[in-house]
Amino acid sequence: MPSLTQAATRREAIRRYCQECAGDDLRSCDAVSCVLWRYRKGREVAAPGQRLTRGQAIRKRCVECMAGQRRLVAECPSEGCHLWPYRS
Ligand code: SF4
Repeated sequence: MPSLTQAATRREAIRRYCQECAGDDLRSCDAVSCVLWRYRKGREVAAPGQRLTRGQAIRKRCVECMAGQRRLVAECPSEGCHLWPYRS
């Protein structure tokens, strides 16, 4: 189970976020269309679609989470989310 303490890096934040979504066996996650998929295990792996930096991928995931409302990402109240410190 991932720790709820703040991840020190974007890399770790994505890994923890993905563990909460898919469990500890991130290798078997088949959600290739997820913007975080290429970074789910820490190191980047090849994936279809546009290549983004980790920061861009987090931002895009947050916009998706807020149903496309970009301005709401900055106001996100979910401080317990692993991506929260890196959402903008
Ligand atoms: S930080 Fe907020 S907007 Fe971003 S994924 Fe987490 S809950 Fe959603």
